[in-house]
Amino acid sequence: MDQIIRHLKNSTHILVASHAKPDGDALGSLIAMGLALDALNKKTTLYNESPIPAVYRFLPSVNRIVRHINCASFDIAVMLDCGNLERIGKAVSAVRQIPVIVNIDHHITNTRFGHFQLIDTSACATAEIICRLIKQMGVPIDKAIATSIYTGILTDTGSFRFSNTNRAAFAICQEMVELGVDPFSIARHVYGTYSLGRIKLLNLALDSIEISSNGKLSIMTLTQDMFDETNTQHEDIDGLINYARRIEDVKVAALILEQQNGKRKSKDSNQFHVSLRTNGSVDVAAIASSFGGGGHSSAAGFSIESTLSDVKSIIFNLAEKW
Ligand code: 5GP
Ligand code: MN
Repeated sequence: MDQIIRHLKNSTHILVASHAKPDGDALGSLIAMGLALDALNKKTTLYNESPIPAVYRFLPSVNRIVRHINCASFDIAVMLDCGNLERIGKAVSAVRQIPVIVNIDHHITNTRFGHFQLIDTSACATAEIICRLIKQMGVPIDKAIATSIYTGILTDTGSFRFSNTNRAAFAICQEMVELGVDPFSIARHVYGTYSLGRIKLLNLALDSIEISSNGKLSIMTLTQDMFDETNTQHEDIDGLINYARRIEDVKVAALILEQQNGKRKSKDSNQFHVSLRTNGSVDVAAIASSFGGGGHSSAAGFSIESTLSDVKSIIFNLAEKW
């Protein structure tokens, strides 16, 4: 950690970036780190390739996050919440040209890419690691930094319900509240209201649920047609998979998401992202890794190009062993 801090302090232009299709941890960690580097009078650029989901647009300084970068000017890149460098998205080849890459993450499948790593797979969120780093940097945590860290931990632990919820989650969040965070205000932004379209999408998603013959696996499917029909976007699927996970006797839930920009190579073959969640009895990070993806033992994902019916049978086959 001290080596990383020394590099950051000696650098002139720092790129801070997190994974595409960001969640609350990817954005909270990104902003907290950016604000802490401001306090050290460092020149920083905050990058995420995807649009900011509406529920996270309340975050402080969120408008500073840019979607395009010219990597030639950076002497160091700090990659947050990325299990591998490719999670950054299109900028991956440009980022590889940056002389020093720092990898800060909590995914069990982290590939240990980069020149320096700060990886703690027992951390509840990348925001927990960022909180420790900011303290070690000697930067005082103001309300804006506290709001970003709190949001990262709140959302990555599913409001302190998921298996990654640890003592630090509570300890840090209490500290952030003491520093001025208003839990009700953040909860209202993150979990407050749904568009009518999202409720209609929920209806289609629930209707799509299929169960394996032994009852141990559930599959929810979201096609591009469903998004078009309900006038919704991929950011509206947050949390939907939990309905499939909470079905009695289900050990693993899979959510198959047809990719918006998936190039159709043939009439039926398409690009899909598969999210996996478990009640804790199956290691879904291992399953996702076997398909070239990754994640945590109880929440993981991978991408696959195939037909929808083939993707479903591949996933249903997994359940036969359980
Ligand atoms: P989600 O299902 O919400 O997309 O992701 C669940 C977890 O798995 C997250 O921690 C996410 O970072 C990770 N994950 C999802 N898809 C991929 C993937 O394609 N590759 C890797 N390495 N991790 C993934
Ligand atoms: Mn995370």
